[in-house]
Amino acid sequence: MKKIIIVTLLLGSMICYSCKQEGSKHKMEKHDTSGPEFTSAYICPMHCKGSGSDQPGKCPVCQMDYELNEEKK
Ligand SMILES: [Zn+2]
Repeated sequence: MKKIIIVTLLLGSMICYSCKQEGSKHKMEKHDTSGPEFTSAYICPMHCKGSGSDQPGKCPVCQMDYELNEEKK
């Protein structure tokens, strides 16, 4: 009987662990700043997907003017 309890606890913690892993993965995807909308020299202030350019211009998604990416070094 004691063995069953230990196995159940072990299984439970394993499931919890994979849940946490999934959660952090989703969080990372949400705050992913590796795309061109973040890494280009000129970027949309809204960081629209598909935006970003080496030269000043307008965001094709929201039509806002690109801003100089100060984080780019
Ligand atoms: Zn935009």
